[in-house]
Amino acid sequence: MAKKLPQTPMLDKLEGGPWPSFVTGLKRLAESDGKHYTGMMKDLLGQLEHSYETRTGYWKGGTVGVRGYGGGVIPRFSIVADKYPESSEFHTLRIQPPAGLHYDTKTLRQLCDIWEEHGSGLIAFHGQSGDIMFQGATTENVQKAFDALNDIGFDMGGAGAAVRTSMSCVGAARCEQSCYNEQKAHRMMIDATLDDMHRPSLPYKFKFKFSGCANDCVNASHRSDFAVIGTWRDDIKVDQEKFKQAVAERGRKEIIDQVISMCPTRALSLNDDDTLDVDNKSCVRCMHCINVLTKALSPGDDKGVTILLGGKRTLKIGDMMGTVIVPFMKLETDEDYEKLVELGVECVDFFAENALEHERVGEMVERIGLVNFLEGVGLEVDPNMVSHPRTSSYFRSDDWDEEAAKWERRKAAGQAEVAAE
Ligand code: SF4
Repeated sequence: MAKKLPQTPMLDKLEGGPWPSFVTGLKRLAESDGKHYTGMMKDLLGQLEHSYETRTGYWKGGTVGVRGYGGGVIPRFSIVADKYPESSEFHTLRIQPPAGLHYDTKTLRQLCDIWEEHGSGLIAFHGQSGDIMFQGATTENVQKAFDALNDIGFDMGGAGAAVRTSMSCVGAARCEQSCYNEQKAHRMMIDATLDDMHRPSLPYKFKFKFSGCANDCVNASHRSDFAVIGTWRDDIKVDQEKFKQAVAERGRKEIIDQVISMCPTRALSLNDDDTLDVDNKSCVRCMHCINVLTKALSPGDDKGVTILLGGKRTLKIGDMMGTVIVPFMKLETDEDYEKLVELGVECVDFFAENALEHERVGEMVERIGLVNFLEGVGLEVDPNMVSHPRTSSYFRSDDWDEEAAKWERRKAAGQAEVAAE
């Protein structure tokens, strides 16, 4: 006789709110006629209800993997398998999504079919780590599922002390604020560091993220060790006619309240004739005015990226925003992208050799000092590298005059080059 859906009064409460509930999803899978995993999902619901009743988790880890890879599978064995035997093994496969999360429907159907055949049918697009989380496979089926996913071009993501699955925003395909080719940078960087993703051998995790502008839709600045964020170094583009139209439609008060006075550096002024002046030297490229007036304002033409290092959630020292290590890098030609990848690889190598066990790169930099890190990866000191807005990230100021003079000389040389062109 088919197993019955367990009574789950506590889980049922989670279906009551305004949002779609994962409990409803689990029940749907548990009741899908003729599927091999319905028993597994019924026992999973039973175990989860039991966890809620007793306020205790009943999963333990173990060692499960696929041939040739040192990570990417999160093993889950139940310690109440005697009560819920069909969900006694419920492993997760972390699979890397395409850069920018661009799928076609055929691929999505193939992914679902594979997981219905080898797993529980339960997929999370996408987990906190950025991976496609294929949740609920038995030990026996892990390799079969991975082989099928690999056959259609998907690869395992990172887990443990390794380079982690990277994320990039939707990018220029759908967003007009994009300042570089995020997908290209993402793909090239991961291709260059794939060994460190699949064979965990770093002191701890290391994550790359790519955002096309300072809106930072993938939370790169505070949730990745190496954040590449699009920006521009010339002037904001202003279409004065469209700006006047916005003033006419919304009124001067609303424009002043929501745009002019919200600029963090007071770089904007509204003229009497309803045109806009931008003090571009003061603008810190925060994106606020552009977000509010998408038709009238847009990023400049001289686009590139800012690179930040060391963002992370709480660990040894509290949450950290990334520190700027490259204020501006042009990303246009293939060589530019290769330079970016070289720097990424250099940072991973330096981290591998110098971090303590279970220490993130941001914590390592705090411990050894930013100047030492920059020297280690071959980056020149630049006064535009800031740790916190409007403060210098340097603790030591010896040789500072010399460094400042060097920087001035480089700047002058760069300007002379531009003038000569
Ligand atoms: Fe001000 Fe930000 Fe607009 Fe720059 S991008 S002018 S800092 S609101």
